[in-house]
This record gives sequence, structure tokens and C-alpha cells, in this order.
Amino acid sequence: MTPVNDLVPKASGTEGRASRQLLVADCTHRSLRLGVYDEKGKSIGRTVIPVDLAADPRFVARTIAAGFNAIDVASNTPLICVVGLPARIAGSLTATSMPGWSGIAIASDLEEVLGCRVIVERSAVLRSLGEAQTGRSDNGPFLYVDIDLGITAAVVTQSGRTLHGAQGLAGEIGHIPVSGERASCACGSIGCLDTVASGAAMARRMNGLESTAAVTSSDVDRFRALVALGDREAQREIRQAGLSIGFVIAGLALVLAPRRIVLGGVLITDGEELLVAVRDGFATRLARRAVDLRSVDRPESAGLDGGLALALEVVRGSRRDQPGIRSRGRV
Ligand SMILES: [Zn+2]
Repeated sequence: MTPVNDLVPKASGTEGRASRQLLVADCTHRSLRLGVYDEKGKSIGRTVIPVDLAADPRFVARTIAAGFNAIDVASNTPLICVVGLPARIAGSLTATSMPGWSGIAIASDLEEVLGCRVIVERSAVLRSLGEAQTGRSDNGPFLYVDIDLGITAAVVTQSGRTLHGAQGLAGEIGHIPVSGERASCACGSIGCLDTVASGAAMARRMNGLESTAAVTSSDVDRFRALVALGDREAQREIRQAGLSIGFVIAGLALVLAPRRIVLGGVLITDGEELLVAVRDGFATRLARRAVDLRSVDRPESAGLDGGLALALEVVRGSRRDQPGIRSRGRV
């Protein structure tokens, strides 16, 4: 990924006309992080709006539009909007935790309310691109792993690009089978990492629910509260989940040989326990492989930074390999 500063046009080309905005929405299961930028990528304003993404997608789309308007009511002339969602994006959108969203034309719905071209991408992809903006000398390749209701990942290559895979399906590490596990997964397989170590899986076990029972971000948040309060069973869940994630990541590290592995998502940013357990699991499997395994540098802004970098590349016409869902409009 090219650093944002290098993407900014050298000659502004905007004198004599109003600057148009670049909009970015980084959606978690429980909130919308919104950023509005000018055409050069300079921040105009940001906000965070609590929203349960399990709600009607049209309501969420209207909330996103209202949030952007609240940041910049003076000149409502957006050029493009990039939206990150915690969902599978492969031509269309599917998410077991957001049942009302599956198959709907969310990019076109958003284009209608925002009045500009929209690109919808996986949240993990935007956050990995944001992490790639940190300007570290050991930038790529790296693996970004997001742990919330589900577990998903994005691979950033040596050249700073996201590895999308066929149909854009690369990164679904939540469905890698875990040795010895037999619980049914919503994907139709058994023993997936998601059924063992995701926030949804831990919340289900704490509530005595079956492995495919529907749980919400509120259920996961109640589980997080128990962890924070020092509940022993909840902390055992975190420990075991971290070890399982570490085992799986160790396998991926053998294939990808990443310079670093970056973990994000609320269960990582809540505290050190999960990160420590992931490191221990990783070290158990790959004791001799030294990989920098750590939490994301800027959890609050990584998704917005990555979305902005993507928006700038698309506006400049330098992005050709982005398979996210696009609305019909043109930049
Ligand atoms: Zn699965």
C-alpha cells in the first residue's frame, strides 16, 4: 500500500471549485466510526456513533449518512465513500451475525442516500491497510487478525497490497479446522476456529448455548464484562481461545512467513490476556520462529486510515485490484 502522503496529488487542481469530500465508515458490530476528508486526504472531522449492526441495513445506511452530514453540514458534496463491514464480501455480502444484510445491494443503497460512488470492503481489509500506513520499516508481508464476534484476517503482501484470493475469499481464518474440535459451525463445517475461539463462541459457552446458536454483540459485551471483572470461567475461556488462535496463526506463519502478525478487535484491545495467550499458543507450535506478534498500533483509527488510503487510490485511478462490492456510480 502506498503511503497516504504519496497518494496526494502534487498539483491540487481544485482551485476555483469547491473541494469534494472523501467519506470513510469503519463499522464494528456495535459502532460506526466515520471520517470525512478533503480531496487531498486532510481530515475534516471524525465521529463514533453507537449502532447495533444486526439492525435493519437501511437504518444503518441512513445513520451513516446522518453521521457524515453531522461532521460536515456546510458542503455536502462527497466524491466517494469507502465502507468497512464485519462480513464476508465475495461479490455479495453475507454475515451470520447480521442476518438482514445477506444478499442486499448495500453499496447501491448507500449510494442512494449519500449521493456518491460507494465501495464496501471487509473491515479487516481496511484495518490491515491502515496498519500498512504506519510507515514501519518492517511493513510487509504481514498478517492482520481481527477478533470480535468472529475471527477474520487480511494478508498484506510485501508490496503493501491486500491478498484477496479467488472471489475475494482470502483471510477467512475463522473457518480453519482446529484439531480435535467437533462443534458445528454456521458455515456447514465442523471444528472451525470460530466455534472454538471467537467472541461469539465464548459467549455461547458461558450461556450454555449450542455452537450454532445466534448471539449478538451485546452477548459478547456481557462476556467481556465478566472477563474485566476477573470471572475465572471467562478468563479460562480467553486463555483457551488465545492458545487455539496462536496454534492456527503458527500454521499460517509457516506458509506466509510474515514479518509481523498484528491482532485487532475488541477482545484484543480490552486487555493483554488474549494477546499473551495467542503468543503462548504460537510459541508452543513455532518455538524457533521469531515473529513480532502484537496488537494493532492505532485501534481507533486503523480502519479509517485504511479506508482513506483506498479512497485516494481509487480517486486517482491507481487502484485496479480491489474486489470489494462497488455501487454503480462513477468517480
Ligand atoms: Zn466454519
